[in-house]
Amino acid sequence: MASLPWRRHRKKDIPGDLWVRCPDCGSTVFGKDLDDMLKVCPECGHHFPISSHTRIAYTLDPASWQELDAGMEAIDALGFVDSKPYPEKLAEAATKTGLKEAMRYGLGSIEGRAVVFGVLEFKFMGGSMGVVVGEKVTRAAELAKERGEPLILVAASGGARMHEGILSLMQMAKTCSALAELREAGGFFISICTHPTTGGVTASWAMAADFVIAEPEALVGFAGPRVIEGTIKKKLPAGFQRAEFLLEKGQLDLIVPRTELRATLSRLLRYIPQPALAPTESSS
Ligand SMILES: [Zn+2]
Repeated sequence: MASLPWRRHRKKDIPGDLWVRCPDCGSTVFGKDLDDMLKVCPECGHHFPISSHTRIAYTLDPASWQELDAGMEAIDALGFVDSKPYPEKLAEAATKTGLKEAMRYGLGSIEGRAVVFGVLEFKFMGGSMGVVVGEKVTRAAELAKERGEPLILVAASGGARMHEGILSLMQMAKTCSALAELREAGGFFISICTHPTTGGVTASWAMAADFVIAEPEALVGFAGPRVIEGTIKKKLPAGFQRAEFLLEKGQLDLIVPRTELRATLSRLLRYIPQPALAPTESSS
């Protein structure tokens, strides 16, 4: 059979991502259908993870994205080594993602409305928050204040970056201070929690928004369910820390499927005066 030339050609013509198996319902989905559905399973609604590049493309107006401080890099202040030195891990993450750090922020628009936008890249060390991520969230909040534009941040994170120790934990206070200043000036902040949003990111800026949105079934929490069960010695209720559970308990404002997110943001932005606050003097 292997000697038949047409067979070899046929095999070559089928790219590996033509069909994708949904990890939730097991359906085999045509790759293009999945793309048309913004990487949401058409059979069961499972939200496949997406990169920061794809998130930007799905959320902002085409060609409106203008990234800022893309070259900002972490330093190894503690000389941290676990399975390998921290600088090696950073270099590997940079090669894998084509990014210098886990957070990206900049200017863009949604259906013509100017916003300051930021997104975490989960594939860069689990979207963990070190000094650079904290600094970029802070700068995004300051920029939103300066420009009088709403701030939108998309989270996907394993939490604080242990490789930066106390310096990473400090980012929780720093980002929340910047967001408090934005709020005091009359600014508006929308946070979008995607699967998973955990640890120090949940415990700081991701839940400190005027409006907190999550994607369906996203895990949003501080410590993981196993750690909590081990601590309190009790079985946790079904669906614990999932978006639907948190909405019921009043921790979220909305659950929005990815296919409706852009339209929902656009609608929300219409309720915010333009500019969201008077631009400050340092604004150009
Ligand atoms: Zn599915």
